[in-house]
Amino acid sequence: MIDLHTHSTASDGKLAPAGLVREAARVGIEVLALTDHDTLSGLAEAAEEASGLGLEFIRGVEISAEFSPGTLHMLGYFVDPADAELEQALSWLRGGRDDRNRLILERLAELGCPLDPGEVAALAGGESVGRPHIARAMINHGYVSSFQEAFDRYLGKGAAAYVDRAKMTPERAVAQILRAGGLPVLAHPQTLALERDAMERLVESLASLGLAGLEAYYYSHSEEETAFFLSLARKLGLAVTAGSDFHGPGTIDSSLGVGQGNMNVPRSIADALVRRHDQSLQNQPLR
Ligand code: AMP
Ligand code: ZN
Ligand code: FE
Ligand code: FE
Repeated sequence: MIDLHTHSTASDGKLAPAGLVREAARVGIEVLALTDHDTLSGLAEAAEEASGLGLEFIRGVEISAEFSPGTLHMLGYFVDPADAELEQALSWLRGGRDDRNRLILERLAELGCPLDPGEVAALAGGESVGRPHIARAMINHGYVSSFQEAFDRYLGKGAAAYVDRAKMTPERAVAQILRAGGLPVLAHPQTLALERDAMERLVESLASLGLAGLEAYYYSHSEEETAFFLSLARKLGLAVTAGSDFHGPGTIDSSLGVGQGNMNVPRSIADALVRRHDQSLQNQPLR
């Protein structure tokens, strides 16, 4: 088994980076990527744990980009954690999260659900703080009885305490990842909420900018959606990846390596991505 899309406490996952890697090894994952939202801060710990366990580890990140009508997340694989420009861009995104979180807490207080920012930060633990952490704090205070209720009533797009945040354009996300020596891969393309023609045009235009792959296998994709993304990737010469978007036990209903049981993919998927990265390094001009 492989899993190329997971989260840790560096963003909104429940397991620490090392704990995530141990759990992956325990369930038989051979190649794992950690792809926290807008941060690289979990990668060193995860890489070290993986090398001790003989598990192949791929550095990753998941960058939120501006998009409508749906959601556009760009995965970046093999990015250089020492790339100052990428780190600066991610730090700007995290600043946008902090600004937004402050506004969300103000609105929640007006709605009769006061929360202490320090409590949310402590619940998060890492440097990339998100709405899931606010949702957990709301449950702890008894303001809502479930994670889903927190999003439906307060935190989801269009709900009572929803606030947008600063994001980079998809084009810039691709460029930043390429610049940091990484491979940009479009995450869960179904969440773009585009018709198939518009989807093809968007993916084609991103491919012309250097997009390297599509996350065809994703825990919430139907068989038919997976088949469509596989054929689109083949048509455009893109790699495909597979991700459970695991956030820890008991979060979203998705398990490491298998998603909802629909994600059993061969290791050759990860090997092809590694080869593609090796080739991209060979073709890179000296800078
Ligand atoms: P953030 O990074 O703060 O924008 O939060 C995004 C995360 O919130 C996603 O990865 C989901 O886990 C969760 N989320 C966003 N919208 C919803 C929703 N409508 N229902 C449940 N969870 C959601
Ligand atoms: Zn997440
Ligand atoms: Fe995502
Ligand atoms: Fe994710």
